[in-house]
Amino acid sequence: MPATILDGAAYAAEIRADVTREVAQFNARHGPIKLCAVLMGTDQAGRIYAESQRKLAVKVGVQYELVELPESTTQAELLAQLDELNADPRVTGIILQLPLPPHIEPALAQYRIDPYKDVEGVNPANIGLLFYGEPLIAPCTALAVTELIGRSGVVQRGAHAVVVGQSRIVGRPVTMFLLTHEATVTGCHIATRDLAAHTRQADILVVAIGKPRAIGVEHVKPGAVVIDVGIHRVIEIDESGSEVRRTVGDVDFGPVSEVAGAITPVPGGVGPMTVAMLLRNTVEAARKQLRRRI
Ligand code: NAD
Repeated sequence: MPATILDGAAYAAEIRADVTREVAQFNARHGPIKLCAVLMGTDQAGRIYAESQRKLAVKVGVQYELVELPESTTQAELLAQLDELNADPRVTGIILQLPLPPHIEPALAQYRIDPYKDVEGVNPANIGLLFYGEPLIAPCTALAVTELIGRSGVVQRGAHAVVVGQSRIVGRPVTMFLLTHEATVTGCHIATRDLAAHTRQADILVVAIGKPRAIGVEHVKPGAVVIDVGIHRVIEIDESGSEVRRTVGDVDFGPVSEVAGAITPVPGGVGPMTVAMLLRNTVEAARKQLRRRI
């Protein structure tokens, strides 16, 4: 039986509707929620991305400001800019657009963002809090994966989850969330021997490796919940011999969707949910600033 499709785009629309209500309530009681994005350099792609962020933010009632810094900005100047935004009570959320120029150390800059304003959940303090099972603001993609697993209906407690890819911002935080839900978790990565022997054990399989269609039907246990984080633009030759551009994931969706119990599509799975989680984090961050613990 073909897998249930976990429709990230539809779930994301539901979440945006909830967030819109929550933002309106917050704004009425406490003043506007405001997101500031810091963009270094003149990269056109960065500006286009920021513009789409602005549209999404404004649509749910969040104010958005883009702070553009020249490519020549030093590490110290960037940190001073972040300090200024941290100290400004009107700014409730901060995004630092990546990639940064090579002379900037991203981790140092991310570390500087006030953990309560860090809506992307990239400050090492926020990633570290997941280790304690007490997240303040978690990384958006890991939240998106967790939300999709939740919506699949699978019972996580006691399930065997395999997370392929152990990056700081996706794979490891997902591993921590699954442990918090008392799944038994195997973390696989580039040095894992006989990957399929591990992944075939998985009731829940999360893939975040950055390799188009690398996970095939031979990696998947029938009935498993498969969450595909990967996203790639590929050019392929169709049946008529013409070149076609496609967006694909790390999972070979067609054959895997014939054996999995539930699966996220690419596009339309983890991607839109990640954006929805950014918006949800933006409200959460503003709320949590009203009752700081650290
Ligand atoms: P990364 O490059 O930082 O880490 C990749 C991880 O996969 C590493 O742990 C590496 O050891 C492991 N790996 C690589 N090849 C492997 C293989 N053949 N077998 C087993 N493990 C392997 O990647 P990332 O930043 O976590 O991103 C992974 C993918 O997810 C990329 O395609 C990226 O574009 C995508 N992504 C999507 C979203 C979204 O919102 N949809 C967000 C972040 C990342």
